Formats: sequence, structure tokens, C-alpha cells
Amino acid sequence: MTPHIVVLGAGYSGMIAANLAARDTKGHVTLVNARDTFIERVRMHELASGKTFRQRPIAELLAGSGVEFVVDEVVHIDAERRVVALSGQELAYDVLIYALGSRADLDSVPGVREHAYTVADVASARRLQERLQSDGSIAVVGGGLTGLEAVTELAETYPGRKVQLVTAGALGEAVSERGRRHLHKVFGRLGIVKVEQARVVAVDGGGLQLADGGRVDADIVVWTTGFEVSDVARKAGFAVDEHGRILVDSTLRSVSHPEVSAIGDAAAVRPEGQDELRMACATGIPMAGHAVRALTDRLNGREPRGLKFRYFNQCISLGRRDGLIQFVRADDSPKELVLTGRLAAKYKASIVSGALYTMRNPLLAKFS
Ligand SMILES: Cc1cc2nc3c(=O)[nH]c(=O)nc-3n(C[C@H](O)[C@H](O)[C@H](O)COP(=O)(O)OP(=O)(O)OC[C@H]3O[C@@H](n4cnc5c(N)ncnc54)[C@H](O)[C@@H]3O)c2cc1C
Repeated sequence: MTPHIVVLGAGYSGMIAANLAARDTKGHVTLVNARDTFIERVRMHELASGKTFRQRPIAELLAGSGVEFVVDEVVHIDAERRVVALSGQELAYDVLIYALGSRADLDSVPGVREHAYTVADVASARRLQERLQSDGSIAVVGGGLTGLEAVTELAETYPGRKVQLVTAGALGEAVSERGRRHLHKVFGRLGIVKVEQARVVAVDGGGLQLADGGRVDADIVVWTTGFEVSDVARKAGFAVDEHGRILVDSTLRSVSHPEVSAIGDAAAVRPEGQDELRMACATGIPMAGHAVRALTDRLNGREPRGLKFRYFNQCISLGRRDGLIQFVRADDSPKELVLTGRLAAKYKASIVSGALYTMRNPLLAKFS
């Protein structure tokens, strides 16, 4: 019997999984996504700042792969009947690969949903881009990788405006001493105001209220802290963690439903002896390769091996002309080795275009 393999979500991890499953298994593969274009999520801060780039039709990226592509919204999964309910039809599956990704968490702090902008998806990035057409000071909340990329991109694009980074910790606390020194230098050059050790408790029409009673005034607030996942998995009855991410074993198979695998941001993955992997393309793409390898092994009667994952670097763009490549140990902790400046900007750009290239050439994911 030819198994029907249904892949939900055509982001970085779902695209790779569908492509490899069609190539490596004898299954019929159907890929479902809410939009017909592939969204390079890692470039949403660029889009928000007015950079233009071509959004590729998913059908074009899948050409010749044998994957059947359906543009529709996943509304519900009936795990008992093994059926996915889309807004316009139902799809029965033998094997399900769940890759619905993540979105901005707009409800953890009051006022974010009403007053803040995000760079988490294409619609939000476009809304921010539109708002930036009229004047106003900017406060980016969040000192993680997305916050650093967003604040430097915006400061470089709008040199006349007041741009602030508001972070609960210290600037660059997750990178090495050399990395931190470079971040401070870039912030100085771009005139970004740092507001450190500042926990935001509310957002309103005029800026941010802080836990210590202080205030940060800003006309435009960009929220980059916290991502959440859709509740489709939880409602389906799959075992999930406290954030709604599907709990999987080291072969990326659901711990509650063996016919289901989960990959990318929507999966809570803890390889043996390691901490949980962070949400990133850098983890989602190898997860996709591994999940399909495990599936192929099982379909061929072989026992699959568990995922072993080693981090290599964190690639941070700091505007279009600067960057920070922080080399890390296998467990993601920073080494003192960094690459900075124009070379780092080029390195990061090549990683971003490499990820897009992999969507068309999924075999590369096997080596990542
Ligand atoms: C601004 C920004 C910069 C980033 N930079 C980096 C970086 O430099 N390096 C890095 O490794 N990571 C980076 N990330 C994180 C990275 O983008 C995500 O970890 C990655 O996109 C996750 O891939 P995924 O395949 O799990 O999900 P996604 O890429 O989010 O794809 C999920 C897909 O599922 C679809 N979908 C969702 N719900 C439904 C539904 N109900 N029905 C149908 N379709 C649905 C979506 O439309 C989407 O196409 C960045 C993120 C942002 C926002």
C-alpha cells in the first residue's frame, strides 16, 4: 500500500520534509499551506524596513518534486479518524508531519495586541512598513536575536529618528565578550539608545510602562519577545508541552501518536543528553531531514537512529552593512570567536540565500 504522507506547513521545515519524503519514500505526499508563496521569515525585519525581495511561489520551488500542493488553512485534526480538516475539504493521512511553525505572542503583556507591531510574519511586517512611512520615534522591545536584527535594520534605514532597544537584561548578554563589544560599537555608530534591565509590563499608545515604575516614550513599538504556536496540535489531543509544542522522541515522532511527526518551531525537541532545541531555521531544517530519514527507515523495516544536533554559529545581521557571526559550542554557548563587519554581513546574507536554495535542493538539508 502507498502511504499518504500529509505535511502541514510550508515554512523552512515543512518544505524540506515534503520534498525529501516525496524523494525518499514510496509515499504519496501532500503539502498544505495557508499561502501560495514561500515566506522567508528570517527576512521579515528587512521587509518591515522597506527592502524588497521576490516572494517565490511554493509551486515553483516544488517543481518536479512530485509533491501535491494544497493552498488552504488547517482548521482541525481528527487524530482518531486520521483526517485533517481544511477550510474547504478533508484530507485523510497515514503519516502526518506537523510543521505549522510559530507566531508572535501578543497576549503575554497587556497592550501588545492593540498597540505594538511585530516582524514575525509577512502581514505584520507590512503593517509596520506602512506605519514607518509617517514620522515617529521607535522602541524595539527584546534583546534576543530578532530584536537585535530589527533595531539595527530600522536605525540604519531611518537615521533621523530616535530608535531605542528596550531589553530585560543587558545588551548582548548571550554572546561572547568580543561579540558584546561589537554590538556596543554598532549601537553607538547607529545612534541606538539602549534601555537595559527594563522589564515591560504594559504597552500603550504613547510607549511602554516598565516594572520599576519607569516609562519609555515611543510612537512606534516593535515587539520581538516571545513566540507562540497554534493550538491545533493541543486540540487534536497530541501530547504537547506547556506552550502547545508537540512533544516528540529523538526521531521527531509524537510521544502520543506514532503516526505523527513534528518538526520546526511547532515541536519541542530534546535530543538525548541535550537541552531543548531553540526555535530557528538552523534547527528546523536539520529536524526535517532527520524526521524523513526516520520515517524512511521505519517504512523499510529499519530501526531509526535518534537525532544528534550540534550548534555551530549564531548569525546576526546588524543592518545591511554589518553583522555578528558568533561561533558557538555544540550546546550553543558562545566561544570567543566572532566574525564582524562587512564580512559578517556577507556571511549572514549567504546563509539566508542558502536556506532559500535548500528549499529547491532539499538534499543539502541532509548535510546540515
Ligand atoms: C525576523 C526574524 C528573523 C529570524 N532570523 C533567524 C535567523 O537568522 N536564523 C534562524 O535560524 N532563525 C531565524 N528566525 C526564526 C525562523 O524564522 C523560524 O524558526 C523558522 O521560520 C521556523 O520554521 P518552521 O518551518 O517551523 O515554521 P515557519 O517558517 O513559521 O512556517 C510555518 C508555515 O505554516 C503555515 N501555517 C501556519 N498555520 C497554518 C494553518 N493553520 N494552516 C495552514 N498553514 C499554516 C505558515 O503560513 C507557514 O508557511 C527568525 C525569525 C524572525 C521572525
